[in-house]
Amino acid sequence: MATDDPAVPVGPLDGAVVPRYAGLATFARLPRRDEVPDYDVAVLGVPFDSGVSYRPGARFGPAHIRQSSRLLRPYNPALEVSPFGTQQVVDAGDLTVNPFDIGQAIGQIEAGAAELAAGGKLLVLGGDHTIALPLLRVMHALHGPIAVLHFDAHLDTWDTYFGAPYTHGTPFRRASEEGLLDREHCLHIGIRGPLYRPEDLTESFDLGFATVHCTELETLGVAGTIERMRARLGDRPVYVSIDIDVLDPAFAPGTGTPEAGGMTSRELLAVLRGLMGANVVSADIVEVSPAYDHAEITGIAAAHVGYELLSVLALTGPTDGPDGDLDADAMVRDLDAER
Ligand code: MN
Ligand code: MN
Repeated sequence: MATDDPAVPVGPLDGAVVPRYAGLATFARLPRRDEVPDYDVAVLGVPFDSGVSYRPGARFGPAHIRQSSRLLRPYNPALEVSPFGTQQVVDAGDLTVNPFDIGQAIGQIEAGAAELAAGGKLLVLGGDHTIALPLLRVMHALHGPIAVLHFDAHLDTWDTYFGAPYTHGTPFRRASEEGLLDREHCLHIGIRGPLYRPEDLTESFDLGFATVHCTELETLGVAGTIERMRARLGDRPVYVSIDIDVLDPAFAPGTGTPEAGGMTSRELLAVLRGLMGANVVSADIVEVSPAYDHAEITGIAAAHVGYELLSVLALTGPTDGPDGDLDADAMVRDLDAER
């Protein structure tokens, strides 16, 4: 891990020197924030789940994802990138947030994330989806209106639960009301399952979100989904928010609000690779609830999603040519050809 050259990022512990199951569980066995002078990306845990409406337990998500990330290796062949080699990634530990006062917790998350985001991009490990609101406040302060790319079985644009405005089902309505979103460029992917009423969808659109429904994934395929995604996001500052329940319960049983008929982890990782070159400013992975997990299935999926996001961050910058046309089909074929 250690290097004498300050220009070379400090990478993960070497699995041939220290066994992968040994040592403190930082994400991907990366250095802690206090072990390096500077960082490009900080992995940050937010152990908070007081905003959930069904199964609790996502407060244990950050620790579980870290534990499940021990097998991640330095080179990503699918994107031909070493995500820890071209940018300094650190694990900044967990924020301390009040589990008994959601309002105070949101303030603590906003303050903690703002401090860290001043030094680099964030990959946030939740926690329930409530945490996306304070994170979007931070992103808006840094970048202006944000194009949110939201992977989830659920819209999370509902108004209140039991009269409560700040919950894991409401962050994107609050964000839209607060003017944090670029309303022409936000997108839900993976929405499925029963709603309360048809207006849930039209209201979500009015709040700024186009939708790729999970049922459309079958006909669009990965390439078609990437094309729709890139067309919607354009060159705007993109915040990627991934509720692990976008995956089918077969691929992510350890979550609070499971819905049948979801994406495979292979599909999700492939769509995320389609973000290569997009202007991704930060990301989160939320709703991992380890008490409902088996054999680290959900934790491993979340860890790999994080790895793919870090790989995309390492490749941030336009790759779609001066005319802005992106050939999603070619991108997928290129990636397939290398396997
Ligand atoms: Mn969800
Ligand atoms: Mn959600």
